[in-house]
Amino acid sequence: MQPGKGRGIVREAAAKLNKGTTGMKYCSNCGADLDHRIPDGEDRLRYVCDTCDNIHYQNPKMVVGTVPRWEDKILLCRRAIAPRYGFWTLPAGYLENGETTARGARRETFEETGARLGELTPFALFDMVFVGEIYYMFTADMVSPEFHVTDESLEVALFTEEQIPWGEIAFDVIEKTLRCWFEDLKTGRLRFHTGEIERGRKFF
Ligand code: ZN
Repeated sequence: MQPGKGRGIVREAAAKLNKGTTGMKYCSNCGADLDHRIPDGEDRLRYVCDTCDNIHYQNPKMVVGTVPRWEDKILLCRRAIAPRYGFWTLPAGYLENGETTARGARRETFEETGARLGELTPFALFDMVFVGEIYYMFTADMVSPEFHVTDESLEVALFTEEQIPWGEIAFDVIEKTLRCWFEDLKTGRLRFHTGEIERGRKFF
């Protein structure tokens, strides 16, 4: 084997394990330049600071959201922010430190739609390895059919399955969640759904 070649193969394999990580240039602890390498005893690339010896671990982010229900309709909002500006989605966003998944989902729902929810029931957990995100979705009845446009939404509206603008849904993970929800509505039994959403791979 040529010198350094083995290490190159290891780096390539490690890069595959690093999907979803974002580039870092400087140490957030001391401001020094960071090195991007595989630390001793590990198997994947990390951002390493040789000045303060910090290793900046990056892990998947959790997105929490809801399928808000009013009678046979669900509430969607039209995104007022990039990416996918103008496309329809369920209320969802990043979980904040210091909040439970249910509180985060409730907060995101109110921030994006102004809707207030009753009890939240866990509905789906989807892995999105290619972007380093995990979607954890709840479903809940709205306490009233009241909602409004917010800074984050161009439009908020209730839809039956037939009314949903299927061609204008922002993300595959949202379309998958909606399909599962309406399937369960037909069977009259809500199940908990799991699976992996891959980039651009429609599996429904
Ligand atoms: Zn540092």
